[in-house]
Amino acid sequence: MTHPFLDLAPLTASRFAEIERRVAGLLDTEQDVVIMQGEALLPLEGCIRGGARPGSTALNVVTGPYGQTFGNWLRDCGAEVVDLAVPFHSAVTAEQVERALAEHPEIDFVSLVHAEAATGNTNPVAEIGEAVRAHGALFMLDAVASAGAEPLLPDAWGVDLCVIGAQKAMGGPAGVSAVSVSARAWERMAANPRAPRQSYLSLLDWKARWIDGGRAALPHAPAQLEMLALEACLERIEADGLENVIARHASAAAATRAGATALGGGLEPYVHEARDAAPVATTLRAPAGVDASALVARALAADPSVPLIAGGGALAKEMIRVNHYGAEATRDAVVSSLAALGAALADAGRETDLDAAREAVKETWPGE
Ligand SMILES: *Cc1c(COP(=O)(O)O)cnc(C)c1O
Repeated sequence: MTHPFLDLAPLTASRFAEIERRVAGLLDTEQDVVIMQGEALLPLEGCIRGGARPGSTALNVVTGPYGQTFGNWLRDCGAEVVDLAVPFHSAVTAEQVERALAEHPEIDFVSLVHAEAATGNTNPVAEIGEAVRAHGALFMLDAVASAGAEPLLPDAWGVDLCVIGAQKAMGGPAGVSAVSVSARAWERMAANPRAPRQSYLSLLDWKARWIDGGRAALPHAPAQLEMLALEACLERIEADGLENVIARHASAAAATRAGATALGGGLEPYVHEARDAAPVATTLRAPAGVDASALVARALAADPSVPLIAGGGALAKEMIRVNHYGAEATRDAVVSSLAALGAALADAGRETDLDAAREAVKETWPGE
């Protein structure tokens, strides 16, 4: 008997290329798309090690934990790093980026995270892209948490390296990821003697062995199950309509924000301005005197099915994340999350109003 995951016919080069074309369609890009055979940190590290080198200066925008990781890689590559850090409860502005570029004309690489699932903020990439393009630096964007959750237009925004993963708003697999690569980015990597070559991190290998060979033969056995899952996830997004998937995430974020505020008990949106809040996930600040991770543990004890998690690392005490993405981008998931948080807050002796929260969700996200 054939097993659903096993005994599959090999994934052909043409099918692999077709999945790449679908990713390009999702991103509305004319650039080369490379599907990397690993989780999104693989292309993110590959882009940085390919683009940065001793003698280069990078502007690294830090709006959450991933930006901190990028800074470490950039320094490891021997690049000078200008860190532009903003508080995690806000977004960076194009003016801040412009100012940093003007202060450091030598900057030739910019790394930015579009949306941060870990901190719940999102950055104005279109405006930032204009500033980066005017300056002439290579522009890398981590769009793992924004793909499928909000508009993402690497070509229109002047993004040279746009990395996505399917495991967040796309509702797909975590084990493969993709990056769109501009002609400028290929040139930069080709001219970088330190860029990974004959390495799992190497984008140049994919260019030499796959793209330049007319996508005729795959260089290695692909991660077949993950590729099939990616194909299925792209098909589902196409069938649902990308704009509808995006609208669902925007509604989930707005409803969570409004519902949490109406719930009360001292709960507040972590990101101060709604325009800076990411559609992919909503972060909340635990009431003073209440430990966020303990509160989340209590909420999960009340309802283990809700997409709640405490913030990572130092944020675990104060931040609650509602991961309303992918299959959880529903009104039910939002309401259940608020109900579980309400129960946990009541346990902690706080007064909450779940009816008001439900009402706020219904008003913010009518229909369904
Ligand atoms: C989720 C995410 C990634 C992928 O990293 P994981 O640690 O595997 O979840 C990368 N960048 C951003 C901005 C993300 O939100």
